Amino acid sequence: MNIVHIASELAPFAKVGGLADMVYGLAQECRRLGARVEVIIPKYDHCFKEAQMVMQNLKSFDGPNSYDNTIWRIDVHGLTVTLVEPHHPEQLFRRGLIYGCPDDVSRFIYFSRAALEYLYKRKDKIDVIHVHDWSTAICAPLIKQMYLLLGLAVKKCVLTIHNLEHQGLCTVQDLSQSGLNGKDFLTSDKMQDVKNPELINLLKGGIIYATDVTTVSPRYEKEIKTPLGGAGLDTLLTHVQHKLKGILNGIDLDYWRPDFTIEQKKDKKSALQKKLKLETSDAPLACAVTRLATQKAPDLIRHAIFRTLEKGGQFVLVGTPASPEIDQMFRKVKKELSKNKKVAIVLDYDEPLSKLVFAGADMIVIPSLFEPCGLTQMIAQRYGTVPVVRATGGLADTVFEGETGFLFEYPDEAGVNWALDRALACCRDQKEAWKKLIQNGMSRDFGWKKPAEEYMKVYSDSARLI
Ligand code: ADP
Repeated sequence: MNIVHIASELAPFAKVGGLADMVYGLAQECRRLGARVEVIIPKYDHCFKEAQMVMQNLKSFDGPNSYDNTIWRIDVHGLTVTLVEPHHPEQLFRRGLIYGCPDDVSRFIYFSRAALEYLYKRKDKIDVIHVHDWSTAICAPLIKQMYLLLGLAVKKCVLTIHNLEHQGLCTVQDLSQSGLNGKDFLTSDKMQDVKNPELINLLKGGIIYATDVTTVSPRYEKEIKTPLGGAGLDTLLTHVQHKLKGILNGIDLDYWRPDFTIEQKKDKKSALQKKLKLETSDAPLACAVTRLATQKAPDLIRHAIFRTLEKGGQFVLVGTPASPEIDQMFRKVKKELSKNKKVAIVLDYDEPLSKLVFAGADMIVIPSLFEPCGLTQMIAQRYGTVPVVRATGGLADTVFEGETGFLFEYPDEAGVNWALDRALACCRDQKEAWKKLIQNGMSRDFGWKKPAEEYMKVYSDSARLI
């Protein structure tokens, strides 16, 4: 089977969140299952210095203009990764970042079209083109409405929804830049946005024109078909549920490989306390390792810090603020607690530190408002750190009350207290029960093998583009 992913992220080089890990983990595991897999991503300026050139002067379109692209190839632990470098006057991927530009929609429309143009020129026979989130969702309508007619040989287009929050809203003119006639797609049965009828919704286009749509956990698959979780697309997702499937993400078991036993976990705790200049103590140590974005309920993370301290515990936060307001809120907390030896707040992205935190903490607090899959609760369990989580999305699929962790339903302070207080008390007073929770978590299999087998079934089902 010949599978090509077209994506905006790929771990570990071009990573913003879980999408990057998923594309890498799934691609590698499908390779192990015997498939031929390639991942196409933009050639971002901040990575991939040692790639080999494979094609020059590939023309691709941005509205009426056509620009050259250089195509590069790099091998990442056996995985073939193809990089598209546009020679576009706007320097689309030389911005030192992946997302966050006012023209993000145009950048990824251009990339999606160029990636398909490359596959078309290469004249391979492809079984599956797998696209991800709003950023490459436009590939589905482009394939169906343009490239199949030109003769691109592809049987299926699979779209994975990693997060419904971002849907790629844009104007009819933006869509026309791709070569499709934007006006033709501004209808309710095509790509018209439900809440902003004058706008095009790229993710909606992906959902309609893909042969199969997957999302990253079974619970999230149910939630996105409801008005509460559907972000305006619930009716459409219910309508296409015959081709919609929730498949839980895995984690990279080689990368997240604890180098200690349960008995040695207390040494990791001491090492963490030492590293962050916390009091060396047996008090329960809670942590959060997260983007500090609205989705992650930053106010409840803040509350969890104070609640843990109130109950005699310690707290470590490694968080990346997603907005100036959230950054300010945590800087204030950090200042307020600067003399407190029971708390450490690191407002930065720090993967090596995160590994020590997963290893040294007793529990991890994840109060998300919604969580399509979530990786930290799985990584934490592998490292013997007990999750205290809101029962939503992938968190509800991977943490089991009293067996591997503690759950709460409502995303408010009372909810956090309900689960966190029980966890702190269990950790402090019920050593045997706590050890059992750790053992249960550490013995679970969160690898990519099972999810990849499920994706292979989707890749081989009978749905076809034509
Ligand atoms: P999301 O993709 O919504 O950010 P996930 O839980 O799916 O959340 O994945 C987040 C990944 O990023 C995890 O591997 C987590 O360890 C890592 N991560 C998040 N914030 C930080 C941080 N500040 N420092 C180090 N790693 C982080």
